[in-house]
Amino acid sequence: MPQTKEFEFLTRPVTAVKGVTPRRAALLARCGISTLWDALTFFPYRYEDFSEIKRPDQVKAGEEALVYGKVLDVKAEKTFKKRLKIVKVLIENSGGKASGVWFNQPWLAEKFEIGKKVLFHGVCHSLFAGCVQMTNPDVIYLDDDFHPDDYEGKKLPVYHTTEGLPQGVLRKVMSGIVSEALPNFREYLPYEERRKHGLIDISDAVAALHDPKKMGDEELGKARRRLIVDEFFALQVGNVLTKKIMQKENYEAHHLVPGKLIVDFLNTLPFKLTKDQLSVLSEIKNDMLAPRPMHRLLQGDVGSGKTVVAATAMLMAVESGYNAAIMAPTEILARQHFETLKKWCDKIGVDVLFSHGGMKAKEKKELLNRFEEEKNFILVGTHSLLHVKDSIPNLGLVVIDEQHKFGVAQRAMLREAESVPDTLIMTATPIPRSLAMTLYGHLDISVIRSAPAGRIPVKTYVVTPERLPGVWDFIRKEAAAGRQAYIVYPQIDESDKREAKAAAEMFDVLSKKVFPDLKLGIVHGRLEKEEKEETMRRFREGEISVLICTTVIEVGVDVPNASVMVIEDAQRFGLAQLHQLRGRIGRGSLQSYCVLVDNTPLEKGGDEFSQPLLTGMTENRRLEVMAKTCDGFEIAEADMELRGPGEFFGEKQSGHPTLYLANPNRDRNELSLAKELAEKLIEAYDKGDLAPDIREAFLTRVALRYGEEFTMPGF
Ligand code: ADP
Ligand code: MG
Repeated sequence: MPQTKEFEFLTRPVTAVKGVTPRRAALLARCGISTLWDALTFFPYRYEDFSEIKRPDQVKAGEEALVYGKVLDVKAEKTFKKRLKIVKVLIENSGGKASGVWFNQPWLAEKFEIGKKVLFHGVCHSLFAGCVQMTNPDVIYLDDDFHPDDYEGKKLPVYHTTEGLPQGVLRKVMSGIVSEALPNFREYLPYEERRKHGLIDISDAVAALHDPKKMGDEELGKARRRLIVDEFFALQVGNVLTKKIMQKENYEAHHLVPGKLIVDFLNTLPFKLTKDQLSVLSEIKNDMLAPRPMHRLLQGDVGSGKTVVAATAMLMAVESGYNAAIMAPTEILARQHFETLKKWCDKIGVDVLFSHGGMKAKEKKELLNRFEEEKNFILVGTHSLLHVKDSIPNLGLVVIDEQHKFGVAQRAMLREAESVPDTLIMTATPIPRSLAMTLYGHLDISVIRSAPAGRIPVKTYVVTPERLPGVWDFIRKEAAAGRQAYIVYPQIDESDKREAKAAAEMFDVLSKKVFPDLKLGIVHGRLEKEEKEETMRRFREGEISVLICTTVIEVGVDVPNASVMVIEDAQRFGLAQLHQLRGRIGRGSLQSYCVLVDNTPLEKGGDEFSQPLLTGMTENRRLEVMAKTCDGFEIAEADMELRGPGEFFGEKQSGHPTLYLANPNRDRNELSLAKELAEKLIEAYDKGDLAPDIREAFLTRVALRYGEEFTMPGF
């Protein structure tokens, strides 16, 4: 597919910019920046505000201030009993001295050099002996030629960075890349539209966010608003284009009003459908009866009972004389679906077939033969079935169980569309309604909100590490009662070895010192597959009482007898991830407990010390949300409210989430404006009404967002 010049330029690797060495590029890649475009949209998450650089003699006690000086002395000490490691740094200038104190961050000592200029930013506690005391201030390391007057009133960007890439270096590298890349990112909105809606030029906005210079908050706000509209715009273009594709779809299925088969099925179930399940089913039924393809997203937390809804829908297709297929993200989950569906369908005489990776040629042939038979069936497999779905005859309904990686299979479905069946996509990731409607505006959305009755909510506690001995006692008690426990550690990761307690190390300590009387097991990402599976099997069968693990247990593990989950360094996990992890317990009929260990350094935990991040929220408040509720949608709403939508789907690591600045809950006006603009531009494009430069820029923007997903006509 031919591309615009700008697209080709902006998708070049960052090494194309002078001064970006392969080593730097590797560090940038860790921040999620590979191309020039990645860098352009890698926005700072806050600014260092130099509006008031003060001398120590100018600050008042209790004031939050930016204090400037030269490093006079650096001390690293341990308190009595060696429980606390303290770093003290004294700085000085003509207005007196200031002392910064940090607890339990001994590595900081090496970062200071006597005689170098620095800024401390934080609350000034006391002023005894003419010296300002600051606890855990943020530090800005300055160039030798720094002079406060040059910086007065300036804002400096602060980016999410990674070890080995100091903020100052990243800032310089970013500035180099941005100034080289920016001339190729051009305005795609016609001037008239921008004027009407008060939107500044897109490249001015990008420039302002990376380097606001002495810009005031109002001006910076305008830049941000322009980019919020841009983020929404890119998404809406996708939704509008997808809808257009859908309108042209060739749909042949004729589903019938549910009859005896469905009644029989519901009667053989060992439970009654909940109100939520019934109302979702009625939405699905209406879609299936309508003379156009269904594109419905079914959201429901893990355990909310989506499978039986999918089964009923598939049986509706079978009863109407069609075949139906359900696809799971992994082989294990596919097998689980197969077993459940087979158990249910055997009773009503409907065939369930299983397509899996381990099939021999003979089995494959048998499966293909079955495709030829008259009788209708339900086919179970993984997402790989999507590629052969055209060979499944008479396909009336496809159910895609997406679990976490939502979106991938769904788009594959669209691209291959010739004659399409009804499609039901199920996701277990609760997404706030406003966000779901923005991201998946081309889909209809159903939600199962409450779990089947009888499930007991997990009791959740947030504790500091000192309380761990009590937690271990509790695990021992539960184990004595025949229950099991998970102890979860953050993923083993080269880049932050320092802080993460590696699961492997803790396994040693726990099995030798803490639980010598219990059987422990360990699974993490670096073990061989067989070893992992063997340990999981022994845990499932109750041979192992305590499983030490990393987040590898997130997907597809079901051990109803596990009643305790301890999550260490819980402050390092996102809320969505904590929720998924906690979903592993509370699956049986007994009370379960989740303990979140908050290892935030004491002095940093409180709200008063935290930075007012653009999309920020302190760890403790996030963990409190977990303690308060088990409702995935409530947690998702809180997460979005407090951190912005960028945190969803763990996209933060990738540097440029779908929505980083924009928040559909907050920015409703910008959202509807973006939708209007997307529709207008696509229409003008189709009619050939766009000026050549605007057309070029618009195509560039669409390509940057969607790659080759959409081929624009005439391009
Ligand atoms: P998920 O939404 O995660 O796919 P499942 O469909 O696996 O959830 O359902 C979780 C469990 O709840 C299953 O054992 C299922 O049989 C059971 N279940 C589903 N619906 C109901 C209901 N209405 N009443 C009682 N149990 C139900
Ligand atoms: Mg499921």
